[in-house]
Amino acid sequence: MKIDTKCLYEGYTPANGEPRAIPIVQSTTFKYESSDAMGALFDLEAEGYFYSRLANPTCDMVAKRITALEGGYAGMLTSSGQAANFFAVFNICEAGDHFIASSAIYGGTYNLFGTTFKKMGIECTFVDPEVTEEELQAAFRPNTKCVFGETITNPTVQIFDIEMFARVAHKNGVPLIMDNTFATPINCRPIEWGCDIVTHSTTKYIDGHASSIGGCIVDSGNFDWDAHAEKFPGLTTPDESYHGIIYTKKFGKAAYITKATSQLMRDFGCSQSPQSAYYLSLGLESLAVRMERHCKNALAVAKYLQGHDKVEWVKYADLEGDKYHEAAKKYCPNGTCGVIAFAIKGDRKDAVTFMDSLKLISVITHVADAKSCIEHPASHTHRQLTDEELLQAGVDPKLIRLSIGIENVDDLIADLEQALQNI
Ligand SMILES: *Cc1c(COP(=O)(O)O)cnc(C)c1O
Repeated sequence: MKIDTKCLYEGYTPANGEPRAIPIVQSTTFKYESSDAMGALFDLEAEGYFYSRLANPTCDMVAKRITALEGGYAGMLTSSGQAANFFAVFNICEAGDHFIASSAIYGGTYNLFGTTFKKMGIECTFVDPEVTEEELQAAFRPNTKCVFGETITNPTVQIFDIEMFARVAHKNGVPLIMDNTFATPINCRPIEWGCDIVTHSTTKYIDGHASSIGGCIVDSGNFDWDAHAEKFPGLTTPDESYHGIIYTKKFGKAAYITKATSQLMRDFGCSQSPQSAYYLSLGLESLAVRMERHCKNALAVAKYLQGHDKVEWVKYADLEGDKYHEAAKKYCPNGTCGVIAFAIKGDRKDAVTFMDSLKLISVITHVADAKSCIEHPASHTHRQLTDEELLQAGVDPKLIRLSIGIENVDDLIADLEQALQNI
């Protein structure tokens, strides 16, 4: 199947007489005939469901669909994108460890890595996504456990050099984790470029309709944990909380995801509800069609803004001449996403006047769904960051993030035009 067909069918194949739509298994618990059968599940000796905090059939079907789209080996849903990024790193890092992250990432992830992980004894070094191989190499320490980046950075819409980061990570015996929220597997599949683990805030394009918070982790199954066993004791030495099983020995390519579900989900409980997973399955069905429209609309709007005399600059990698255009053609040949970054001439007051004048495009702390919305990171998502940190995260205080939806593009341009005239 081609990827747009997979969006409809992967993860669930109804048998004779079964429901066509993914069934919502709205049950916390699952019944077994004997206590031995239950016990075997608790020991991870048998496969099956026993409590929806750890795993649920509806969530698994949807996770399988996303895993198939990403070309991964195993996947899991989480309650949010934040939980996905937390688990993705914490599954292989513990107190005393260190990891490297691109500084151009979602504000919430930046806080999680820079502030909250520090309290847990895990240190993060942020590097500019534009680092050279030598500079990236210099950030490694003996206790570095992974490298993290965003395929298309939020909100600066830079295209990340996945191949280079993967090469350097692997040279140092650690995996590359990529947050692929903005590109979605329709427009970029990081695993094909050497990335090991992919995360998503499914809250964005995958849900697509601003209806439910969710996240996902997909493991390629490609990283050889045993080859660097001393770095990843959580995967390669006995887990006493499961009678001493060793994840890599028992689960092979599924070791990483099995540990995350059976250990982190058990203990932290950031599980997604089956109802939300069902909404995700609906979003996934139209993902390929929507991404095509998002990209087509966004390119038209980017060109319109670029030609406007009240606009100072526009960043959108699908625009010819954009700094990341070549990278976009390589990693996202069918288009990047619907998000544009731009700045208008004038001061902060003018930016606010412009945003408040919009009638169709709403000012919303969201991005990447069917309806167009706009946001000013310096006054919204990134407001916890000082100006210095903003600049370090590559966010120009003037940057306006415009998320282009699937409306008729003429209506969007008309709205932008009347608002720009208002300044
Ligand atoms: C929104 C977002 C997150 C956080 O996801 P939530 O679902 O809001 O928890 C993480 N990464 C990126 C790139 C995002 O846009």
